[in-house]
Amino acid sequence: MPRKSILDARTQRLRFRRNLLAWFRRHGRDLPWRRTRDPYAVLVSEVMLQQTQVVRVTGYWTRFLECFPTLEHLAAASPQRVREAWDGLGYYRRAENLRRAAGEMVTHHGGEVPREPAVLRSLPGIGAYTAGAVASFAYELPEPAIDTNVARVLRRAFHPRLRRGAAGERKLWDTAKTLVPRAGNAAWTTNQALMELGALVCTARVMHCTICPVRGACRTGMNRRSTG
Ligand code: SF4
Repeated sequence: MPRKSILDARTQRLRFRRNLLAWFRRHGRDLPWRRTRDPYAVLVSEVMLQQTQVVRVTGYWTRFLECFPTLEHLAAASPQRVREAWDGLGYYRRAENLRRAAGEMVTHHGGEVPREPAVLRSLPGIGAYTAGAVASFAYELPEPAIDTNVARVLRRAFHPRLRRGAAGERKLWDTAKTLVPRAGNAAWTTNQALMELGALVCTARVMHCTICPVRGACRTGMNRRSTG
């Protein structure tokens, strides 16, 4: 007989976050873009990570930043040169959007990557996730960032019966907002930890509930007998 969740929403959130952060401090990967707060470098990493796995992005990210070390370098580059630096990473539209976004930032934003998610979203190729990720990972603002991995974790942990669609998506963003602490550095860590859990433990293929650090605060995990 599955166990029913007896946690109220606030207790669940607090327990979930506490266990998640403790796990991330021990098991989070040392990825190169996690060592920087440079907004341009963070933006490049986030665009590359859209639809591409971490292991493939690492080398490309370093080489791309060597080719185009600043927004100005990227804005001044030809589409062909940017395309060549992206060659092999796939989804080449991302590269062209990034080059165009760099041009807009140089022309209209003083050569800086904007901080506000709403402004970031007005740039080519930058959606809600990337805008939240740049605000959090570069500027340490308390903004949520929901990519596919995070959406899956939030859905399983907090809303296992949530329907797909716009209303369901809004619910996930509301939940993420309540999870992300107001202090910027803690918000950075929480967003990174959510992504890491979705990439390593609560994956699309397998829910590793038996080793999951947040199982005691997860509505799906608590109701599963056992799993790999
Ligand atoms: S307990 Fe299971 S379903 Fe819940 S977050 Fe962990 S792996 Fe995912």
